[in-house]
Amino acid sequence: MKTMSESLKEKLESVTKNIETAAKNAGRNPADVKLVAVSKTHPIKVLQGAIAAGCKILGENKVQEAIEKIEEIGNDKVEWHLIGHLQKNKARKAVQNFDVIHTLDSLKLAKRLERICLEEGRKELSVLVQVDLADEESKFGIKEKDLQELVDFLKDCECLRFNGLMIIPPFFEDVEKVRPFFRKLRKIRDDLQTQNVFAKGFGELSMGMSNDFHVAIEEGATLIRVGTAIFGQRNYSN
Ligand SMILES: *Cc1c(COP(=O)(O)O)cnc(C)c1O
Repeated sequence: MKTMSESLKEKLESVTKNIETAAKNAGRNPADVKLVAVSKTHPIKVLQGAIAAGCKILGENKVQEAIEKIEEIGNDKVEWHLIGHLQKNKARKAVQNFDVIHTLDSLKLAKRLERICLEEGRKELSVLVQVDLADEESKFGIKEKDLQELVDFLKDCECLRFNGLMIIPPFFEDVEKVRPFFRKLRKIRDDLQTQNVFAKGFGELSMGMSNDFHVAIEEGATLIRVGTAIFGQRNYSN
């Protein structure tokens, strides 16, 4: 029987290969696509296995769960990315613990994060703005019409570093149906880039998950968030 870490290693190799293939098919450099290994619900042992296997970025969606992992594992071997919705009462903990927040989705939250960074002496915090292009009232993410106001605020922030955009498109069985969402997000990023609003001069695109990351890479993703394809099915009951 294979050990857990052997099968994790194999899955990771297979994901890495698929990233390379998708990038090459799209005429892109595979090195421009960074893998966020989404480790939510998985125990610390599994995360340590992923780090040993070469994962450089871990993605978590719940602040409290992540903190327990960060305290145990530390932040010198791996970057910690928050990919789940950030409630305002968790903003301070997020500032204290995460390297990158993918889910900035309102001007109010931006103002709060900037204020907390100043209070905490956190000189730089990398943020991506989550955009809702599906107009689903239940979903998180800022509407396109409200984006410019947030961008204008981020331009003048002392601590928040506006480093790109993120999307969680609606789920479709047919992955081709998500392609327009990825393409639209890229167009918004390209337009913002001409305004020179990004801290690094270019904007990351956080898009694509286990079932559709190849499509996202074809559409320009620079950060893909992959859980199941690396770690297997999540078990929410434990
Ligand atoms: C859980 C999650 C993922 C990973 O999804 P998989 O289908 O397991 O790859 C990616 N992005 C976000 C925001 C998530 O919450």
